[in-house]
Amino acid sequence: MTTTVNSVCSYCGTGCGIVLETDGEKIISLIGDTKHPTNQGKLCSKGRELHKTVDTKDRLLVPQLRTSLDAPFAPVDWDSALSHTAKKFADIIQEHGPDAVAFYVSGQLLTEDYYVFNKLMKGFIGSNNIDTNSRLCMSSAVMGYKRAFGADGPPTCYDDIEKASCFFITGANPAYAHPIVFRRLEAAKEANPNLKVIVVDPRRTDTCSIADLHLPLKAGTDVLLYQAMLHVLLQEGFADEDYMAKHTTGFAEVRDKALNLNLGEAAETCGLTPEDIIQAARWFGENKTLSLWTMGLNQSSSGTDKNNALINLHLATGQVGKEGCGPFSLTGQPNAMGGREVGGMATMLAAHRDYTNPKHRQEVADYWGVDSVPEKPGLTATELFSALEAGTVKAVWIACTNPIVSMPDAKRAEAALRKAELVMVSDAYHPTDTTKLAHVLFPASGWAEKEGTITNTERRITHLQQAIPKAGLSRDDWKIAADFAVALGQQLGQDWSQAFAYQTASDVFDEHCGLTAGKDIDITGLSYAALDEFGPQQWPFKKGDKPNQIKRLYTNHVYETHDKKAHFVDVDYIPVAEPTDDTYPLSLTTGRIRDQWHTMTKSGAVPQLMQHIPMPTVQIHPDDAQMYGIEDEALVLISSRRGEVIAPAQISKDIRQGLVFFPMHWGKMMARAGRINTLMKTSVDPLSKEPEFKHSAVNVLPFKAAWHGMLLMAGQYVDLGQQMIEPYTYGVVACAGQNFPVTSIDLACTQPLQDEQYKRLDYMLEQGQAFEVLTYSDKRHGIHRKAWINSDGHLVAVRWVGGDISEAKWLRTLMLEGTDVGDMRPFLLAPSSVVNTTDTKGNIICACHNVGEIEIKEAMASGCGDLETLKTCTKAGTGCGSCVPEIKRLLAEI
Ligand code: SF4
Repeated sequence: MTTTVNSVCSYCGTGCGIVLETDGEKIISLIGDTKHPTNQGKLCSKGRELHKTVDTKDRLLVPQLRTSLDAPFAPVDWDSALSHTAKKFADIIQEHGPDAVAFYVSGQLLTEDYYVFNKLMKGFIGSNNIDTNSRLCMSSAVMGYKRAFGADGPPTCYDDIEKASCFFITGANPAYAHPIVFRRLEAAKEANPNLKVIVVDPRRTDTCSIADLHLPLKAGTDVLLYQAMLHVLLQEGFADEDYMAKHTTGFAEVRDKALNLNLGEAAETCGLTPEDIIQAARWFGENKTLSLWTMGLNQSSSGTDKNNALINLHLATGQVGKEGCGPFSLTGQPNAMGGREVGGMATMLAAHRDYTNPKHRQEVADYWGVDSVPEKPGLTATELFSALEAGTVKAVWIACTNPIVSMPDAKRAEAALRKAELVMVSDAYHPTDTTKLAHVLFPASGWAEKEGTITNTERRITHLQQAIPKAGLSRDDWKIAADFAVALGQQLGQDWSQAFAYQTASDVFDEHCGLTAGKDIDITGLSYAALDEFGPQQWPFKKGDKPNQIKRLYTNHVYETHDKKAHFVDVDYIPVAEPTDDTYPLSLTTGRIRDQWHTMTKSGAVPQLMQHIPMPTVQIHPDDAQMYGIEDEALVLISSRRGEVIAPAQISKDIRQGLVFFPMHWGKMMARAGRINTLMKTSVDPLSKEPEFKHSAVNVLPFKAAWHGMLLMAGQYVDLGQQMIEPYTYGVVACAGQNFPVTSIDLACTQPLQDEQYKRLDYMLEQGQAFEVLTYSDKRHGIHRKAWINSDGHLVAVRWVGGDISEAKWLRTLMLEGTDVGDMRPFLLAPSSVVNTTDTKGNIICACHNVGEIEIKEAMASGCGDLETLKTCTKAGTGCGSCVPEIKRLLAEI
């Protein structure tokens, strides 16, 4: 018998509802929840495949311990794991004080998990040393809201998308990073062609597929652009003087600065034309404008100022707390908002309380039944890793995140973590780049195995129900934290069992709700029963509130500041912290691709999601490519003051000259030399402490390899591939495909391949089986190729070293399609005009219907010249719709 269970997608902060069908043991199917107000049944390419992340080979199923990083892990039972770890943790606290330990948690935790970690550290251990990967993502938006409105209250909601007449999308690529939000933006534009869409981004991304105006500003000049727009808004009479007089303070300084600005000079600094800035400002002022942003503003050494300069535009035009307009930050992680609500960061307290406020601290202490919560600020993410490096933090618990890939200056972060006396990691997966550096592994239940709540971008809380039994001995993160609390208390001679005596996630949620009473975020009217009865609800939701009201904040123009007014913030444009120079002449920016998420620990294991972009490439403008001698698809070496990364070049006019782009997802396990955060400087915003991920000064040169090769294996062999790339300078593993996944490994090295290395690679490719073997060797030209064919005539493995490796791509297509190689045998390793060896698919654009770029281009060449005809011809774009912006881009290039 099967049952259906409601859940939420655990990827981005859009917060799409899903319905899981289960047989009580396994997930049988997954569909979008038609009743969920966020997505109304739609899911993007990532969300559709989410169930494939549950039962993977790398699930961590039992607790494991080891005495040193060189020793192997040994499985242990929970009691042993908890008591052993609590003893070491307690010893460190007793010897060095509570600030010698820290938690580093995640926006992927459920609110209940976050709540218990936060309570344990701040209320019982007695330190504020709990920070989260949301520090790398949303903390500038939090500070921006707090400075302007007095609280971390995003004022808008998704319904504003349909009510707006202008979208100002700045520092965001929702076509890739928030696809279901983007579907709503697309639909709104389609329903109202007069709606204006302005996209501000140094790259022409697929979000520009709906843009009326693209402003390709120079990286880091956002504040100056917004000030220039304010200049125009004021000059042209768009200011809402009445609103400002009644409901805001601080305008005089901001106005003077904007009016004194020289528009031509500002435009030049931003790399834009004055005309485009004037047009953007006019559309902003004439319309109901909804501003949408994310990492392009937040991940910056002046991220808070960028947020406030943007919010200033809304305050100046009175566009806050009204339908169809306002500042709307898109959250990156599924539950970054939930973490903000429980105050699960080093610089905040629960329910929007402030740790610097003695009254707030006492309220929280009283609620938790402790004497006090600490006054001293905790260590933020980058400070925590500096403290590990300095040895002042000696034990850290990392929960549900992979900082060894995601932290800036990642090589240094890795070295810092290696210095810790005790590294505990709770995760659903092992190995990851971070679990490899742990002494203790706690197996955490996956999203479908847990009950709890998630809050999305528009403050909407959804109840996730547990769909399937917990994998192995895994436990909910809140349960691990509560069990650890009791064990730690015992080691410290304290009885904390009552404070952490939760029986269910619902107990934790109820306690969290109680702590919000009387605050702007009051959710005392919510419980799991209420969420099940009414469906997902936005906060605030006080006792007695009616369900399903559209909740905009500040509709009465009363704000959470001391004077109840919204505050203009007078900010200055500050150039990027590490300017380019002769040695590092280019600016590196990072971002997301459509079908991967974060550091790929989940999405990287799904072959369907590796088809779109299977390996990291560096996007570079043709003029820069020519200047630095770089050819399309050839390997390049990108270097900064902190390290080096290697990847193929992708030459494109879609990026500004002087800028290069690299995706942020790959760590060392999947890409030997592809962890881009190795290159990023740790420059943080002074207020939000969010690091800069949108600029680093770099140099880019051709990579001189002794050889370059590709290995192919029919089937999913990611772990084997990871072993294969270990010894070489460059290596990327990708397992992609629909019905017949193929693992491909791109390899290169500065040292020639030795016979022993050939033998080792061949041994791994053959996997002990007796296959028909074809070889082609031409030592003079460095060509060493081999193919293995099974008794059905299918290629099972290929070693292609030397010559043009792009010629091996058609073999990959043969494997993906399960083709009998038949009479093609003589030509497999020595391409010839006798057979057509051209790749017929290319990268997969439409993941739902497995349609490749080459197929789409061929259909266009044969007369399918518009989107609808192309959809009919190829089926591309008729599934989840995530690929539609890319198809539109290809059409525009005809
Ligand atoms: Fe999941 Fe985000 Fe896609 Fe929705 S838009 S299905 S939340 S990844």
